[in-house]
Amino acid sequence: MCSGRVDLGFVLKAFSNGVDGVFMGACHLGECNYITHGNYHALKMVLLCKKILEYIGLNPERLRIEFMSSGEGQVFTKVVDDFSKQVRELGPLGSSEDIDRNELKTKLEEVRKLVPYIKMAKREKLETHFESEEEYEGLFTREEIDELFDEVVSYYIDPEKCQACMICQRRCPVEAIEGAKNLIHIIHQDKCIKCGTCFEVCPPRFGAVQKITGEPVPPPIPEQERAVKRKSKEK
Ligand code: SF4
Ligand code: SF4
Repeated sequence: MCSGRVDLGFVLKAFSNGVDGVFMGACHLGECNYITHGNYHALKMVLLCKKILEYIGLNPERLRIEFMSSGEGQVFTKVVDDFSKQVRELGPLGSSEDIDRNELKTKLEEVRKLVPYIKMAKREKLETHFESEEEYEGLFTREEIDELFDEVVSYYIDPEKCQACMICQRRCPVEAIEGAKNLIHIIHQDKCIKCGTCFEVCPPRFGAVQKITGEPVPPPIPEQERAVKRKSKEK
């Protein structure tokens, strides 16, 4: 019902599925039917996504947002015709960019997994509100997106410190943490969306969750070595 519901992840998924272009029609800015200003959210999402497409190596013109009302049928046909023509000129996804299809899919899927992280990292800008479309130009820069991906954070549970209290496992929103009573917990990196919840909830007296940037995450501790070593109480 609202362009604001079109998530960054949906657009990346569409490209990952091989579509050549994504068009979004949204209500005129300032004329949102709801109090949420969903069309402003849509605009910011599109601007961010365009920079991400550039980062991946895709032409950002493959994504377009246009604002119109349901009574402007002629505007709709005109912009859709124009966009279709533009996408035809660009050719199949990856062809004008000279990127291998499989490589492209892998990159898009990798970035799509980072959507919660991207939204968190860019939360302040995504909450920015200006009145006119022009004011949003330059809200996101290519440099900051490069930096964002260069500094992607990973989370790791230090087996020497984990006391198997299970708090992080219960709070992880995507069940990326494996563990049980008396078993050192581990994070499945392929499932982790880098929300940082485990880092925040691990009790400070354990401080077992580490934030890692710019270096590889150590492999998880082997299953047979996961019995927790309780910290001995001082007498
Ligand atoms: S950062 Fe921690 S809580 Fe968040 S998804 Fe990854 S493992 Fe789960
Ligand atoms: S919250 Fe910390 S101590 Fe508790 S299970 Fe998770 S990593 Fe281990």
